Amino acid sequence: MAKGHAHRWRVAPGAKAHLGQVDTRTTAGAPGDKAETEAATADLAAELAGLQERLYAEARQSLLVVLQAIDAGGKDGTIRSVFRGLNPASCRVASFKVPSEEERSHDFLWRVHAKTPAAGEVVVFNRSHYEDVLVVRVHELVPEAVWRPRYDLINGFEANLAAAGTRIVKLFLHISKDEQAERFQDRLDDPAKRWKFRKGDLEERARWDDYMAAFEEALSRTSTEAAPWYVVPADRNWYRNWAVSRILVETLQDMDPNYPPAEDLAGVVIT
Ligand code: ADP
Repeated sequence: MAKGHAHRWRVAPGAKAHLGQVDTRTTAGAPGDKAETEAATADLAAELAGLQERLYAEARQSLLVVLQAIDAGGKDGTIRSVFRGLNPASCRVASFKVPSEEERSHDFLWRVHAKTPAAGEVVVFNRSHYEDVLVVRVHELVPEAVWRPRYDLINGFEANLAAAGTRIVKLFLHISKDEQAERFQDRLDDPAKRWKFRKGDLEERARWDDYMAAFEEALSRTSTEAAPWYVVPADRNWYRNWAVSRILVETLQDMDPNYPPAEDLAGVVIT
């Protein structure tokens, strides 16, 4: 990809992700302080909207953004902030929850494949097929002999999407355990946020290390040229929004969508 900022957060294909070594509060590379960075993010939002318009008009390629994070990692806030300027006519969010009985009676990619973008579309996965090697692994919902082969199955699935013109960008929003505690406390204290908190969140928090190990292996095994992972330091929302915006703009610039050639309009007169 052309030089920019995105490489800073990219997990190089074949490399091992070391989440413990990432400073989740960093503002490295940001164009300035909070206000300056927010201004830069607003400029990126306008760029993003223009690129999306061309992607839609071209109708040949598509963009799939996979968002994964620990609880309170900022998936919802990222969607609200970074994608709000896009044209909803060709942008969609697909959220993946505990699979229904029907979903469970198919292979794990069935429900996911159904939500992938058509040519010209941008789709955001709020959680994704990666849950099948994350929560499923941590809670031993299926035996290891079932979840372990899924890394290769995921790589094959994503290669198939890439071959069909879908660019895949996978974002792990990385917060610290302390930051999660603060965000949980905030949810408890603020009546407008309390609905987001469930007691089960604390049981999940107790498995923090297991989740980090599962994320590390998933990121290490499935960051590919066709579908790279990015580890976005996400303790500061304004830095996270800027970083995600940069990654998306740089990816779309690299895709270089173009308006289709106009028909031959010689002699056309509007009457
Ligand atoms: P979110 O936390 O994303 O805002 P919810 O609070 O509804 O949304 O949580 C969705 C839940 O669904 C999470 O606990 C997640 O682990 C679970 N989930 C998603 N996909 C799967 C899956 N394939 N198998 C089991 N649980 C899953």
